[in-house]
Amino acid sequence: MDTKYIFLTGGVVSSVGKGVTAAAIGRLLKERGFEVSIQKLDPYINVDPGTMSPYQHGEVYVLDDGAETDLDLGHYERFVDISLNKVCNVTTGQVYAEVIAKERRGDYLGGTIQVIPHITNEIKRRIRMVAKTTGAEIVLVEVGGTVGDIEGLPFLEALRQMRGDVGPENSLYIHVTWVPHIGATGELKTKPTQHSVRELRSIGISPDVIIARSDYEMGQELCDKIALFCDVEQRAVIPMVTAELLYEIPLLVEKTQMGDILLERLGLKPRKKPNWKPWEKLVQEMNREKPTAKIAFVGKYVELHDAYMSVREATRHAALSLGLDDEILWIHSSDLEKGRGVELLQEADGIIVPGGFGERGIEGKIHAARYARENNIPYLGLCLGMQVMVIELARHMLNDDEANSTEFDPSTPHPVIDLMPDQRDLTDMGGTMRLGLYPCQLQSGSKAADAYGKDSINERHRHRFEFKNMYREKLQKAGMEFSGLSPDNRLVEIAEMKDHPFMLGTQFHPEFLSRPTRPHPLFLGFLKAVKDNLNSES
Ligand code: GLN
Repeated sequence: MDTKYIFLTGGVVSSVGKGVTAAAIGRLLKERGFEVSIQKLDPYINVDPGTMSPYQHGEVYVLDDGAETDLDLGHYERFVDISLNKVCNVTTGQVYAEVIAKERRGDYLGGTIQVIPHITNEIKRRIRMVAKTTGAEIVLVEVGGTVGDIEGLPFLEALRQMRGDVGPENSLYIHVTWVPHIGATGELKTKPTQHSVRELRSIGISPDVIIARSDYEMGQELCDKIALFCDVEQRAVIPMVTAELLYEIPLLVEKTQMGDILLERLGLKPRKKPNWKPWEKLVQEMNREKPTAKIAFVGKYVELHDAYMSVREATRHAALSLGLDDEILWIHSSDLEKGRGVELLQEADGIIVPGGFGERGIEGKIHAARYARENNIPYLGLCLGMQVMVIELARHMLNDDEANSTEFDPSTPHPVIDLMPDQRDLTDMGGTMRLGLYPCQLQSGSKAADAYGKDSINERHRHRFEFKNMYREKLQKAGMEFSGLSPDNRLVEIAEMKDHPFMLGTQFHPEFLSRPTRPHPLFLGFLKAVKDNLNSES
């Protein structure tokens, strides 16, 4: 069959859940037996979000092939349960970098390089690459931002041209808008949607489907009004009220006519009946009254929860599968340095120190690791969280508070964490970390091997620093086991404390491989230890 394309644009405002909607539609199509892939087009000029502050952008989501991508790719992978690759996140920066490199090579044979056709051709080439590299039969393409943004124009123009290139039977446009509620009159207003569709039409794109997002239930008359003004079939205006639970969204989309409309328009017949049982079970489980595990997240970007999106989700997946509710206690690591937030740490049933960069708040994280070790509180350290665990034990063992990572103190007398040798001569910061999937061998009998139930694994990485091997023996004497190593034994991938219910840190990021119905083994191991503690307390 020809590759089918579904293009999603946003209208009125951003942050209305376009990414989650795309992910839910992806799942809908997968449930009907199709191979699906999802691509995000980001109009910003950065080559990737890897160099951006989490405050700007939220989490950087890392793929198997090491691409540093938008956090929406996390939603796509989790909802559809697929593995994406680097062509699935395109930015203006990447597109221009490629076109300019070609121009410098002389590939354009003296031509004048312009947005149309050179930039739009490069965008379209990257859209087509998705099916070629993933084997997807249906490719969903989400454009970041909203219609009307100047920087989004070349992307929208490329989408407009795609219909001509692949034909109307192989392409479909969905516009996701926001229907605001006016408190004074208690009314929902469709006018912004009408304006945004008009704007989209002026670019040459007529939406086939409108998803009208709103915080309030929308009556049929409003949908009909949108259909009339925006020239869309009545049944193709799909109201989507803000859901209470993230994982309810695919079920809510399934209840609409979306599945039928999409397949009809694309000339497809469902290959199988959707099986939503696992998702229904998930949502039932979320709604059920159950004991609460309080998990402290000790980080430096905690005021922006999006910065820890995958860690948050992975914690939830594991908690749910163990019949627990999770309550996150967000602790600012710099607060701990000033003696604040300690009571939250004391309240916690388990502690997670997620990844991070730079010196700010590091002493607070070290404090959290010490608290976990001394009080037998389950602890999971992710990347920086493992490094912090090592620094803490080294300080205790060597009786020297100057033990550190050279990231935070380049002249420390005990550099237990140090820059990886191949990072030393790098000058460029973008895309140069140790990124993506690498293998790791587990020590049998360790908590890590127990949790995974096998002895060799592959996990996603994003770091520049590593454990310094000259300290292995010393820390082993202090009760640390290096239970995960690279196959050449050179790089410490997992460290754990022997005489502790669960204190384990990973140099990689297990959170990226957790799925709603397949929680990650290490998060599961961590939460099992939390649950054991809860049980022994009650
Ligand atoms: N800053 C640390 C490093 O580069 C940890 C990175 C991370 O937590 N992702 O090694």
